[in-house]
Amino acid sequence: MTVFSTSPGTRDILAPDAARWRQFQEVFASVVQDAGYQLIIPPMFEDLGVFLRLGEATEVVTKEMYDFEDKGGRRVALRPEQTASVCRAFVEHRPTTPWKVWYSGPNFRYEKPQQGRYRQFDQVGIEVLGVDDPLLDAEVIALAATFFSRLGLKDVQLAVNSLGDDGDREKYSAALHEYFSANLFQLSEESQITLQKNPLRVLDSKRREDQVLINAAPKIRHYLSADAANHFDSVLRALDALGVKYAIDDRLVRGLDYYRRTTFEFVSTALKAAHTAIGGGGRYDGLVEHLGGPSTPGIGFALGLDRTLLACDAENVFSAPNTNVSVFVVDTTGGLHAAEVCNLLRNNAISVDRAFDNRSMKAQMKAADRSGAMIALIIGTDEVAAGHIIVRPMNSGQQYAIAQDQLVAAIRSELQK
Ligand code: AMP
Repeated sequence: MTVFSTSPGTRDILAPDAARWRQFQEVFASVVQDAGYQLIIPPMFEDLGVFLRLGEATEVVTKEMYDFEDKGGRRVALRPEQTASVCRAFVEHRPTTPWKVWYSGPNFRYEKPQQGRYRQFDQVGIEVLGVDDPLLDAEVIALAATFFSRLGLKDVQLAVNSLGDDGDREKYSAALHEYFSANLFQLSEESQITLQKNPLRVLDSKRREDQVLINAAPKIRHYLSADAANHFDSVLRALDALGVKYAIDDRLVRGLDYYRRTTFEFVSTALKAAHTAIGGGGRYDGLVEHLGGPSTPGIGFALGLDRTLLACDAENVFSAPNTNVSVFVVDTTGGLHAAEVCNLLRNNAISVDRAFDNRSMKAQMKAADRSGAMIALIIGTDEVAAGHIIVRPMNSGQQYAIAQDQLVAAIRSELQK
C-alpha cells in the first residue's frame, strides 16, 4: 500500500500552530479593518494571462507558476500572489475609489523548498487603488509596521526606496544596462540573462559573485524626476511624523515590473535563515491599465505568514492561543448523560468535550487531564439517582455536587474565578 505524505514545499498545519495561524489572520484583520480596509476573497486560480501581466522579468511568472490547462481547455494558473487578482477584480467590478481592500490566503510558487520558503505559502496583504497621495504610501507602510509590533515583533527593519516614474525607470534601467554590460563577465550567468530582460532586477541578485558590481552600480536616486523625488520626500517626512523607523535602500527594486515610486520591504533580523524578508510592497501605478482598466494608481503590500511566524518563534513572541475546552465531562453510566450535558453547555456557549466508548473512570479522568479543561464534570450512577452532577475544578481538587438545573450558572461562576 502506498502511504502518502505531503508534496514537497507543502505542509500540514496542525494544532497548536493552526490556531496561531488563525489568530495571526485575526490580528491582521483587526489592524486593517480598523483603518477602513475591506476583505476581498479572490479565487485561487485565474486565467494565466492575469499573472503574465505581472511582467516577463518576474521569476514568479516565468519559472514558478503552477499553470495548467483545465478540462475545458482554458489556460489557468494557481495564483502566485494576489495583487494581480485584486487589480483584475477592480477592472471587472469598477468599484468607487479609493478602493481599500485586504486579503488573506495561500499562494503557489514552484520554488526550491527550504526553511521559510514553500510552494504553498500564505500571505496577508492590503491594496489601495485610486489614490496618488504620498500620505497613503505612509499609511500603508505604517499599517504593516503596526501589525508587526502588534504581534510582539521587535527585530524588524524597514527598507524603503523609490523607483521613480515610468520615464525615470527607463533612464535608470538604460544606465544600469550600460554599466553592467561594460562589466558583463563579472556577472553571474543568471544575472547576465536577467540583464537582458530587466536590468533593474540584477540589483535583486543575492549571488555572491554579483555583489561587488552591484554595490558600485549607479543609484536610482540620481535618476528620479522632480515629481517622483518630491513624492518620495513626502513619504519619508510622513513616516518620520508617524515615528516609523526606516532605512533608504537604493538596491530595493522588488519583483514586480510594475512597481513605480515607493517600494519597501520588512526584514526580520531575528531570522538566521537565507530568507529573512517577511513582507514588502510598493506602488504599481501601471498595473490596472495593463489589465485593461483605466489609468489608476495602486499601492499595497503582502506579508508572508509562514515566515513571519518563524520570526515570531525566533523572538519568542505571539505564542499559540489556548484552544482548550473549558469543561470535560466524565460519565460512567454509559455516556448518554454526557451527551445531554454537552448539549446543554454548548447551547449556552460553554466549550466542552467528553470521552466516548464508555471507558473506565480512570481513563476518562486521564482524558479530562489531557484536554486541558479547567473543570471536570463527573456523572456516576449515584449522581444520576440524586439528580446531581459533580463539579471538579481541575486545579483546586475541591469538588462539589450541584443540581443539573444550576449547572450552567455554577460553571460560569467557576470560569470567572
Ligand atoms: P512577494 O509577493 O514575493 O513580494 O513576497 C512577499 C512576502 O511573502 C515575502 O516577504 C515573504 O515573507 C513571503 N513569501 C514569498 N514567497 C514565499 C515562499 N515561497 N514561501 C514562504 N513565504 C514566501
